[in-house]
Amino acid sequence: MTNNLQATTTLSNGVKMPWFGLGVFKVEEGPELVNAVKFAIKQGYRSIDTAAIYGNEEGVGQAIREAINEYGIPREELFITSKVWNSDLGYDSTLVAYETSLNKLGLDYLDLYLIHWPVEDKFIEAWRALETLYKEGRVKAIGVSNFQVHHLEKVMQVAVLKPMVNQVEYHPMLTQAEVKAFCDSNGIQFEAWSPLMQGQLFDNPLLKELANKYNKSVAQIILRWDLQNGVVTIPKSIKEHRIIENSNLFNFELTREDMDIISSLNENHRVGPDPDNIDF
Ligand code: NAD
Repeated sequence: MTNNLQATTTLSNGVKMPWFGLGVFKVEEGPELVNAVKFAIKQGYRSIDTAAIYGNEEGVGQAIREAINEYGIPREELFITSKVWNSDLGYDSTLVAYETSLNKLGLDYLDLYLIHWPVEDKFIEAWRALETLYKEGRVKAIGVSNFQVHHLEKVMQVAVLKPMVNQVEYHPMLTQAEVKAFCDSNGIQFEAWSPLMQGQLFDNPLLKELANKYNKSVAQIILRWDLQNGVVTIPKSIKEHRIIENSNLFNFELTREDMDIISSLNENHRVGPDPDNIDF
């Protein structure tokens, strides 16, 4: 049940992953990053989403260590995700990339390691490396990001293990019906990135109307819609009042009708790159 900030979904391998977490894309190394991550953990957040390409794994790691020491939160209660970048996709290079991320974070395991983008001809070898890390007990769960149905099918044809998570762009303007249905029916946990469409949904009249109706903010309406759709969500903020606001999602429920109204905003509109046309 998604009834509190630390509620979890159970991945296909039995590992528990929080429904809610903090994203740190575009947050540079420095005290602002460390303070935001620590503040979130102090407020009850347990899941932090970073990536090698964000260039902030060292600060995230510092914040985690300080939170563990200062707030007495055991490492096992935290859920830390990172991702292997495109230039490191390959069997050996992905194994090395994992060590590099661990070293920067100062951790001895990750809870979830993802292939960041489905670079053709490279992601299969990278998946084999993730399977090795998993089988060796180095990582609790493995998954992918930005995978379309055809990418997932390709991996699943050769994989020993199915991806446990697929993290994709998802918000009311991009509801990803096809890939979500595929993930739901194959036991792959669906996770939203840019759930707030990078701040571009706050003036939407319909969402504003719903915010008034429930006496909530637009951000809270959207994030609650994620949870009620069975979607893990990781909004980014470094502002303390927003870190608190975004996590206050557990004392109200959207009606079925309002859920449908939000989903009807879909325009298949992306703010990030199209996984079928990546040139980076
Ligand atoms: P987001 O949709 O979470 O929006 C963040 C923006 O909204 C920020 O500018 C923030 O200031 C603003 N904001 C946050 N809460 C607010 C509130 N309550 N009121 C008003 N404004 C608010 O965008 P994002 O950072 O792109 O996505 C979230 C996370 O997803 C990232 O930090 C990252 O961890 C992950 N991500 C993954 C990928 C991928 O390819 N796997 C790509 C992009 C992002």
